[in-house]
Amino acid sequence: MSRAQEQPRAVVVGAGIGGLSTAVGLVRIGWRVTVLERAPELREAGAGISLLANALRSLDQLGVGEVVRSRSATMMPGGEGVRIPSGRRLMKPADPEFVRDHGLSVTVLPRPELHRALREALPPGCVRTGAEVTGIAQLPEGGAVLSYRDADSAAERTVRADVVVAADGKNSRSRRSLFPDAPEPVYSGHSVWRGIAEVSRAEEPGGTTWGNGLEFGRMPLVDGRGYWYAVTNAEAGTRRGDDHAEVLRRFGSWHAPIPELLRATPPEAVLYHDVFEFAEPLPSYVASSTALLGDAAHAMTTDLGQGACQAIEDAVVLCAALAVEKDVSAALASYDEQRRPRTRMIIEASRRIGRLKLREGKLGVLVRNAIMAATPPRAGERAMARIGDWYPPTLPGRVPA
Ligand SMILES: Cc1cc2nc3c(=O)[nH]c(=O)nc-3n(C[C@H](O)[C@H](O)[C@H](O)COP(=O)(O)OP(=O)(O)OC[C@H]3O[C@@H](n4cnc5c(N)ncnc54)[C@H](O)[C@@H]3O)c2cc1C
Repeated sequence: MSRAQEQPRAVVVGAGIGGLSTAVGLVRIGWRVTVLERAPELREAGAGISLLANALRSLDQLGVGEVVRSRSATMMPGGEGVRIPSGRRLMKPADPEFVRDHGLSVTVLPRPELHRALREALPPGCVRTGAEVTGIAQLPEGGAVLSYRDADSAAERTVRADVVVAADGKNSRSRRSLFPDAPEPVYSGHSVWRGIAEVSRAEEPGGTTWGNGLEFGRMPLVDGRGYWYAVTNAEAGTRRGDDHAEVLRRFGSWHAPIPELLRATPPEAVLYHDVFEFAEPLPSYVASSTALLGDAAHAMTTDLGQGACQAIEDAVVLCAALAVEKDVSAALASYDEQRRPRTRMIIEASRRIGRLKLREGKLGVLVRNAIMAATPPRAGERAMARIGDWYPPTLPGRVPA
């Protein structure tokens, strides 16, 4: 399968962080790109997002690292370490020398700001909203034809592509049509509240607190506000009338500054989501001329804060492979080979730490705390380095950061 002599064309399904990152990379390597997004407008909901160094290096390759840094606060991975609800420390902060040697700092920003940075790096007209992809037909001669419903005209339309990037999220319709028998993401058993506290805390180091089947995390934002998340074991689909009241009830008596952060969060801005992950891996991230990317390929728990980071890594690896390999099949095979082992390792590591953090019952919590006390700090730091000390391939045509 060879690409036509003229400028090759990619269609990206979905304008989330994964789809937009890929579109930015494809434009950078000289492809024509159309992003089809089913939502009527481009708006990323969500509170904050943390990006470990692996993702920031990838954003540098896309040419948006500097703008993202300018909208972000930086913190040590894990902040001031792990505490229990009384405030007693369970785990020390990471060793600054180790963090420096492995370039492991964490960047935190409001999620809509990351989305905006990616959108602003795309040429006008590149993203079509109100365009829901309904089918992908692979062509025998290579490439594919996508069908989509255009909300403006209420018409069914088609578009041809040399490569399709299916970045349509954990419930990906593209994945189901390409791999009808493949496993689907399953509920992890954990759900998460998130919010941004309207405080002004210039010196917030960030940190996490582990309770009985509960976790609270807090991170600084560049303007002094505080991003927080709160994780619970729950039944899938649990819905409560007042999420703000619920987080206050569960976490409002924990150590400072947790109660202050919760009280300073506008109640209507508290989000609640069930978390899904691939318990079983997909057999492949590619089929013919289509590549699955981001949550569509490897939805994972939130416990390592790597879902979006891995989607951004995917984008750079895919674009670098397409830039180097003139044959689309070979480029997609290289993407698959590079991305499946790494994302699998991170899905499993994320699940393991999530299960440890959220142990419940008196005995469960005692055993967890004893494990943490007996674990040498270096072990956690090395585990973090396996993920964060990763360097993306170089994208040709990049604007120097
Ligand atoms: C509570 C929580 C906290 C998190 N915190 C972090 C964090 O701190 N750091 C981190 O790295 N990750 C984090 N993640 C994970 C991260 O949010 C996801 O991994 C990431 O957003 C996935 O991006 P995506 O582009 O693959 O998918 P999505 O963001 O789901 O985007 C998919 C897009 O495709 C569109 N779409 C779907 N179907 C179609 C269709 N048929 N046609 C056209 N468009 C379609 C959707 O409308 C959507 O815009 C968190 C997740 C949760 C739930």
